[in-house]
Amino acid sequence: MNYVVFYQQISNDLLIEGLQGQVIGEGMTIKVAINGYGTIGKRVADAVDAQDDMEIVGVTKTRPAFGCDLAVRKGYPIYCTFDEQDRIDAFGKAGYECHGGLSDLLSVADIVVDCSPGKVGASNKEKYQSAGVKWIFQGGEKHAMTELSYTSSANHQENLNAQGTRVVSCNTTGLSRTLVPLYNHCGELSVECTMIRRAADPGDSNKGPINAIKPVLKVPSHHGPDVMTVKPQISINSMAVAVPTTIMHVHVIVATLPEGHGLTTEKVLSMWDSQPRIILMNGGETGITTTAEVMEFARDIGRKWGDLHEIFVWKDGVKLEENTLYYFQAIHQESDVIPENVDAIRALMGVESDWNKSVSKTDLAISKYNNI
Ligand code: NAD
Repeated sequence: MNYVVFYQQISNDLLIEGLQGQVIGEGMTIKVAINGYGTIGKRVADAVDAQDDMEIVGVTKTRPAFGCDLAVRKGYPIYCTFDEQDRIDAFGKAGYECHGGLSDLLSVADIVVDCSPGKVGASNKEKYQSAGVKWIFQGGEKHAMTELSYTSSANHQENLNAQGTRVVSCNTTGLSRTLVPLYNHCGELSVECTMIRRAADPGDSNKGPINAIKPVLKVPSHHGPDVMTVKPQISINSMAVAVPTTIMHVHVIVATLPEGHGLTTEKVLSMWDSQPRIILMNGGETGITTTAEVMEFARDIGRKWGDLHEIFVWKDGVKLEENTLYYFQAIHQESDVIPENVDAIRALMGVESDWNKSVSKTDLAISKYNNI
């Protein structure tokens, strides 16, 4: 699809025009394709489906595997990840209606959210560019490939009307949620952190470790420095270990604030409390002292798959001593990036320039969708 300006005279206040010349009129919806309907893709699809300004025009599967049933139940048109006719035909033989290959899907989309496995997406970029659709990659891809990255709180403005971006990884999204407001207050921030990472997602059977603690021997790890792709002013390094759990990551963070920061532990807590997508709880008082209880609490909230879009910070694990801030936070790896993808779509399509307004709209719609 070409981003040729088509001046459709509805009336000026009914038109929002992106720099690329696309015009999204009121009542029109952004047509979103999902390439890779796996752990992240199926969640992004539902989060998009929840919004009134966008719609899912199709999702891709590489072959007629079990994820197709969910797409059928949701009413999302299924496309094949590939254009080869025999691969498309395999879906029909397995009893699924397949609407064509990736090229067919791109021809009816305004934007594609690439949720393919890490490092696979790079080979898809050319296809998106030649189809003339906007594109969003996930954190498994390199910033160097996309040349632009995104988190809602850090750089929504910078992404306005861009042709493509990358929603950073779950860890980097989590770091950005708590560090960006701190940086915005202090004007300077230096951070050292350790990522204690889940070994595998609950649905993975081929990853580990299952009985060891595995350090990431590339030092520093990419997680911390990746924050600088969305907020280059934050100076940050990280190390990482993988541990035998499937449900969450935990970050151990030590941040050095500049002289004269004017903060106290209480002020840091109330700063985070005023930010979207951060949950603060006292572990001692609530009994939520481990990631197991955090995820049980998330299941009680009632989002699909027991997702927790918010970053969980233990109030009693936060301490500011002079210029050094210590805290822990827990990240639901499969879901904190999901609402960010919705905001990134709005940024790229140029339909909402205020990140806070986009976040509110996204989160409210998802809550309604889940009857919360
Ligand atoms: P996944 O393996 O669960 O899903 C990937 C899907 O893409 C599968 O359905 C697979 O069949 C399909 N696929 C395979 N090759 C493809 C291709 N060439 N083109 C399109 N689709 C293809 O992976 P995931 O966990 O959903 O991860 C997707 C992306 O999101 C990765 O970049 C990953 O790093 C990132 N991410 C994952 C998590 C997480 O915890 N799972 C969190 C944040 C970001």
